[in-house]
Amino acid sequence: MSELTGMIDETRTRAACLIGWPAAHSRSPLIHHYWLRKLGIAGGYSIEAVPPEGFAELVLNLARHGFVGANVTIPHKERALALTVPDERARAVGAANTLWYDGTELRSTNTDVEGFIDNLDASAPGWDAGEDALVLGAGGAARAVVFGLLDRGIGRVVVANRTFERARALAEQFGPRVEAVAWEAIGDCLPRAELLVNTTSLGMRGQPGLDIDVGALPSRAVVNDLVYVPLVTPLLAAAKARGLRTADGLGMLLHQAVRGFELWFGQRPEVTAELRALVEADLTRM
Ligand code: NAP
Repeated sequence: MSELTGMIDETRTRAACLIGWPAAHSRSPLIHHYWLRKLGIAGGYSIEAVPPEGFAELVLNLARHGFVGANVTIPHKERALALTVPDERARAVGAANTLWYDGTELRSTNTDVEGFIDNLDASAPGWDAGEDALVLGAGGAARAVVFGLLDRGIGRVVVANRTFERARALAEQFGPRVEAVAWEAIGDCLPRAELLVNTTSLGMRGQPGLDIDVGALPSRAVVNDLVYVPLVTPLLAAAKARGLRTADGLGMLLHQAVRGFELWFGQRPEVTAELRALVEADLTRM
């Protein structure tokens, strides 16, 4: 980006980065380098390990540091919202994970919303025919999920969370189509849930499993787990064994990366079986 005009200098190689602290082992470089190679774009994607005290300086001078945009992860996602011009999604989720320049303005969004929706569309077409969804969890990922479901026109979204207060706050934020229920009430909600989404960390490697009777779900139900380590969580395994359609967390992770790449490098990339296999192999090496 030229500092004088605020315009992107097309003669320089474009580069984006992931800003986090600590710089956890992320799959984002693998995903973006795959697409850069596939599309023949001379670009880069690096990991920038930046502590909280250095975050504002980097973000407010992203172009001067040589970047056309960035992904943002823990612990900077809320801060990123305040330092940029966020879209409606980022504001509703309360966190931004993707930054880009719109002219000279540094904008932000939350791509977990479309990652979630696009993955369901790809994995279980017609999933949105149902009226009722049950979302487990009320953290950041749950807010992205609820925003996506309402935006898609799902009639009623029930949110159950271990800490009921957080579910209630989420329901209040999103309005009358969202209802908060106690964690203990999940069993009663299952027979009506045409879509079940786990946004808690239960089922993640090293965490307890999610104790849910998928047998109580309607036979047309779709089950989506946001957890992607392991790839097939006990919840997804139980749903598959019952013959239910499923969508997994890796699919969401791949689909959420599409928009950032398009904003930074100007071409919309595809989530292919080859990319999935590449990231799957990396995950199994963990
Ligand atoms: P978060 O804001 O920390 O929320 C965590 C949620 O899990 C809260 O609702 C929490 O309930 C619940 N939880 C944690 N331990 C629990 C337990 N033992 N029993 C019942 N509930 C429990 O985290 P987040 O950012 O929303 O992420 C949640 C999960 O989604 C993580 O596994 C993350 O990896 C995954 N995720 C995946 C993608 C993807 O692309 N696939 C994207 C985003 C997130 P309390 O409120 O009671 O603490």
